[in-house]
Amino acid sequence: MSTEEGKISQSFELKVYHKTCSFNAAHILAGQSWQEDLHGHGYTIAVMIKSKVIGADGFVVDFSVIKAALKQLCQTLNNKVLVASKSTSLQVVDLEDHIRILAPRNTFYEFPKRMCALLPINNSSAEELAKYISESIWEGLESSIKDRGIIEFGTVVSETYTQQDGSYTMRISE
Ligand SMILES: [Zn+2]
Repeated sequence: MSTEEGKISQSFELKVYHKTCSFNAAHILAGQSWQEDLHGHGYTIAVMIKSKVIGADGFVVDFSVIKAALKQLCQTLNNKVLVASKSTSLQVVDLEDHIRILAPRNTFYEFPKRMCALLPINNSSAEELAKYISESIWEGLESSIKDRGIIEFGTVVSETYTQQDGSYTMRISE
């Protein structure tokens, strides 16, 4: 059998993770009638890339490019309060210099805006963070990277304190 005969489909996978691809941040998880109090995690992130072909250079993509993009994103989230600005459970109020977060059970928080990362997500769960991080990195990649037969691109986000992982995978249409 050979790939030319169409009997075997192949794919190559690259997983990129590094000690620099991590960040510390605080967040508040909430539902309609519940919330966790503000707490922090030491998040680690791995990027997963699947391609149907491998380049003439023997790589799926240049991993250093992916690592640099991930490292840069981690720096923007490090030591921040992750605020789910599209939350349907928390009310996020922009007070110019401050962000006020009204939570269920009459709890509210207020932080200087410079300490917050306002993310367009509904909840700062590992899964939703993985979606946000995946899409942010993918949007910033050069077409020379994207055009290397990539069929899947995603991230795994780990909240190391709780050992809880969330992942998100984008399936790239050809
Ligand atoms: Zn948490």
